[in-house]
Amino acid sequence: MRLVVLVVAVVAAALLTGCGRTDSEQSATPTPAGSLSPSSPASVATLPSGRATPATAAPTATAMPTPTPTPTPAPAEVGADELGRVPVLMYHRLTADGGGPYDRTPQAFRAELAWLFEHDYVPVVASELLDGRIDIPAGTKPVVLTFDDSSREQAQLDDGEPAPETALGILTEVAADYPDVEPVAVWSVLPAPFGGDEKRGRRIMRMLHERGHELANHSCSHTPLSGRSRAEVARDLVCGANTIRDAVPDAEVRVLPLPLGRFPDQRRWAETGETPQGRYDHDALLKVGARPAPSPFHADFEPLALPRIRSGNSTQQSDFESAFWLQRLEAEDNAYVSDGDPQRISFPAQREAQLDAAFGDRANPYQP
Ligand SMILES: [Zn+2]
Repeated sequence: MRLVVLVVAVVAAALLTGCGRTDSEQSATPTPAGSLSPSSPASVATLPSGRATPATAAPTATAMPTPTPTPTPAPAEVGADELGRVPVLMYHRLTADGGGPYDRTPQAFRAELAWLFEHDYVPVVASELLDGRIDIPAGTKPVVLTFDDSSREQAQLDDGEPAPETALGILTEVAADYPDVEPVAVWSVLPAPFGGDEKRGRRIMRMLHERGHELANHSCSHTPLSGRSRAEVARDLVCGANTIRDAVPDAEVRVLPLPLGRFPDQRRWAETGETPQGRYDHDALLKVGARPAPSPFHADFEPLALPRIRSGNSTQQSDFESAFWLQRLEAEDNAYVSDGDPQRISFPAQREAQLDAAFGDRANPYQP
C-alpha cells in the first residue's frame, strides 16, 4: 500500500507540473550557489518521493510526462544506510501534568511525533523489524513506537474510530498530515486492557490488529520475572499471551516487553514456555532503555535483548531519553535510512564488515 501511495503521488506530481525528467537528470541540473529553495529541482530530487507535491516541483520543466514507473533513486542519492540504527521508543501514560518519569503530556507526545515525521521517520511494527521487512520509501527511516501497560488514555474507541486525545487518536491524527506515514505501533497489554472493561478492551485490541498495529505480551501480573520459578514465569506469560489470543484469535504474539524490564533468572524462560492453558514463543524481548537498536541486518542485532528508548525531553545522555538519542542520531547521521527496495540491503561500502553474514546475498554496498 505504501508503494501505491508513493507511485500515485509521484505520478500526480509529474503530471501536474509536466515534469518528466528522472531524478538523476534533476540532480544533474546546475543550481546557482545560494539559490537552493523548496522550489528548486535539486531539492525535489533529494526529498523522499512520497513528499513531492506540485508546490515543490520545478516550475520551469518543459518535457512531457513519461508513463513509466518511477525508478527507485540510487542509494547514494538518498543516503541509504540499512545498517544504521533504529529508535524503538517506549511510552507509558499520557497525563495532563506529565506524570512520572515514564509518562508524557499529550502535548509533548504530539510534538515528538511531529518531530519524527518531519525528520522522515516512518513507524513500523516490531515484527517488521524482526523479519527485516522494512518496506518504507527511499530516504525514510524506521521508528518503532511501543506503548506499555494499556492504560485507558492510550486507546479508546469513539464510534469505532480512535478517540481523539488518546495516544492512538493523536498518533492517527498527526500521521494524517504525512503521506508516507501509517499510524502503527506496538501495544503491550495487561488483562482487561485500556481501562479495565474486558469487553471494551477486546474490541480495542481487535481494532488495533485490524489496522496493522501489533499486540505484545506483557504478562498478567505485571511483576518482574526475576526471582520466580520457571513454572510461575510460564503461567504468567501464557496468561498474557492468552489475553491477546482470546480477543484476536489470529494474532501472532511474538513480542514481550519485559515487565519492569527484568529478565527471568534464565532468559530462555521468557522466550518459550508451556502450561496446560497454552504456550508462547517470543521472537523478541524488549528491554527498558537505553539506546537505539541496531539494524536487523547488523551483526550486533539481538532481538532477545532489544533496547528501547524512553520518551522524554532530557538531553543528558545519562537519562537515556528520546530527546538525547534522536538529536544524536541526527548529529552522527547514523540512523537506518531505507533505499526504498525491501529486498536489497544498501549501505555505504565501508560498513560492510558490520553486515550479518546471513544477509550477504541481499547486500548492496555502495560508494557514497
Ligand atoms: Zn509495564
